[in-house]
Amino acid sequence: MSGILEARPRVGYLYAGKSIFNFVSKQIRKVKVNEIKSVPVVIQENTSVYDAIVTLFLEDVGTLFISNSKGYLAGVVSRKDLLKIAIGKTDVHNIPVGVIMTRMPNIITAVPDESVYDAAVKIVEHQIDALPVVEPVETEKGNHIKYKIIGKISKTNITKFFVELGKPDV
Ligand code: ADP
Repeated sequence: MSGILEARPRVGYLYAGKSIFNFVSKQIRKVKVNEIKSVPVVIQENTSVYDAIVTLFLEDVGTLFISNSKGYLAGVVSRKDLLKIAIGKTDVHNIPVGVIMTRMPNIITAVPDESVYDAAVKIVEHQIDALPVVEPVETEKGNHIKYKIIGKISKTNITKFFVELGKPDV
């Protein structure tokens, strides 16, 4: 509890004022993405927009991560990306999701040992719902770094984490 109470000789323990907030903030920042990440729903970039929409319903998620044929992160599609294409005249059976996704290198990601707090800041600053949790993979010389998709951090994960934090001790 260091930082919350200060020991003063012949006085006793004093409440150290503001530092209780530092204490709470330090505790929150200790929790890593790895501890609260969930299973990602990943489809390949050649999957049709129609099948992507079906996957969204079947898996009950709001964001799909898209991989290339080698299994590395290629992009992201959100509910509204799919809605936008579905209300137009495009034949959703014949257009691959890779055409409409937000693609690399514009994808905002998180890594397992990053704090949940930092991941939440990215979600707020970029006004998005979810981040793929990735593991950078070294490829042959001269190539860009590739990312393996190993999880997902979403507003839902973070809300659940918040609820856990607020639970009273039993
Ligand atoms: P929605 O569009 O359904 O409200 P989001 O707010 O998550 O969902 O997405 C907003 C836009 O940002 C979409 O075009 C989506 O493709 C894109 N997007 C979503 N997640 C990410 C991410 N992690 N990195 C980059 N772009 C993203």
